[in-house]
Amino acid sequence: MKILVINAGSSSVKFQLYDMRDESVLAKGKVERIGMETAILSCEPTGKQEYREVSEILEHTTAIRKVLDSLVHPVYGVLGSIGEIDAVGHRVVHGGESFKESVLVTDEVKREIKQLFDLAPLHNPAHMLGIQAVEANMPDTPQTVVFDTAFHQTMPPVAYLYPIPMVLYRKHKIRRYGFHGTSHDYVSKRAAAFLGKPIEELKMITCHIGNGASCTAVLGGKSFDTSMGMTPLEGLMMGTRSGDIDPAIVPYTMAKEDLTLGEVNSMLNKHSGLLAISGGSSDMREIVQAMKDGDKNAALAFDMYAYRLRKYIGSYAAAMNGLDVLVFTAGVGENSARLRKAVCDGLTFFGVEIDDVLNEHHSGQERAISTPSSKVAVLVIPTNEELVIARDTHALIVREN
Ligand code: ADP
Repeated sequence: MKILVINAGSSSVKFQLYDMRDESVLAKGKVERIGMETAILSCEPTGKQEYREVSEILEHTTAIRKVLDSLVHPVYGVLGSIGEIDAVGHRVVHGGESFKESVLVTDEVKREIKQLFDLAPLHNPAHMLGIQAVEANMPDTPQTVVFDTAFHQTMPPVAYLYPIPMVLYRKHKIRRYGFHGTSHDYVSKRAAAFLGKPIEELKMITCHIGNGASCTAVLGGKSFDTSMGMTPLEGLMMGTRSGDIDPAIVPYTMAKEDLTLGEVNSMLNKHSGLLAISGGSSDMREIVQAMKDGDKNAALAFDMYAYRLRKYIGSYAAAMNGLDVLVFTAGVGENSARLRKAVCDGLTFFGVEIDDVLNEHHSGQERAISTPSSKVAVLVIPTNEELVIARDTHALIVREN
């Protein structure tokens, strides 16, 4: 079975084509700058030369057509015909309370996703464009949706409710949803498999630290609490997002700086985090380089980033009354030994002990970085959200037939 995984954004579409017989990637790539005359399609077919094309792509239906054309290209293509694609799986950021697992796309599912536009205005409308674009190009191919929020639907009310008037939850569904669920789900399962232990018996904290960042308390394999909230702004300090702040800062800043709601929203989402404190970059590689060059603001940004993550780990260990496994994943989590060390060196009091040599060793593979005597196993597990989407899609299609 061949499955195309799509992650549609407002001006981009990322894709990966899987052969599910061995879960190999046949091709991957993206379309960027949708809406412009100089949109770029790039495709990396496995075992063949990379393919890049600049052309006018004004909307998502054309973008998907270009992707499909590249997959059947006479020279660079990996398929004889589009009909070889058995199903298409979409990443959808927000599934609200409606979706606790991945589902096949139906008219009802599309209606539900539209209902959730308000909760994820930057993401869900773009995902819907992706679904409609696939429908326009491949009307007979089944589609599925895999939600970033679904894994976190197991959180108990003590974790997902905010201490604000309950009427806001009842009327507007204001609550914690959490994000990066496919990643937290995947790495927690991989971590248990890596350790050869039943996940049901483990207290785990998974740290997905990329441009966006969140950590999750995974109790017995289920999400128990997570740092992102109603939106992906809450929680850890991120590349350009503030994470947790005193909510009173919002009206105070609006009054003092004469800002609109839109402006303050943009400040917290796009001009905060590492970028704001370092005054230079939101990219951890550049922050680390600037620190090495003696930049004090970059050093402060790094220290705050690590400190805030450490506080979350401490609070989740308390929330679960213990910790067996700490997992690092995503761009920063997988690659920055310095960040992992800065976080773990402050957690020795509850038995986290990492081996500096193992921590520095970069293999790109799943690995332990804790010492044999560490009470908590500390692991680096590369995430693979696309593979989770492909697997869920495969399972749904098999179940359907
Ligand atoms: P996204 O959230 O966009 O998927 P990623 O998971 O790819 O992001 O993470 C991007 C982040 O990972 C960037 O801040 C980047 O600097 C960081 N990163 C990637 N490689 C390294 C590295 N070798 N050392 C430190 N940070 C890294």
